[in-house]
Amino acid sequence: MRHHYETPEPDPYPNAVQIDGHSGIAWHVLGWQTEPDEDTEWTGIENRTGALVCQMVGDDNHWLFDPSEVQTLAREDYCGECGQIGCGHDGLDREAVSA
Ligand SMILES: [Zn+2]
Repeated sequence: MRHHYETPEPDPYPNAVQIDGHSGIAWHVLGWQTEPDEDTEWTGIENRTGALVCQMVGDDNHWLFDPSEVQTLAREDYCGECGQIGCGHDGLDREAVSA
């Protein structure tokens, strides 16, 4: 399922996040979900629904979550390749980051 979304500037979630009920997996927040209303055909403007559109790191499915379920992660807390929290094989120098 793909959703329409808009990413605010500045991006409030520049790093990956953790989601309640999905422990161990890092996610990216794409932006706020938007949906067309009866005026969108004329205005081209869609309305935010209040949900965040998120993707698992390394996957392209869209999931919807409430902002209260989303917790930000530090970059060194997750793997940029497989998206697992606690995995460090993506080549990031964690010694330098945490020093
Ligand atoms: Zn990994």
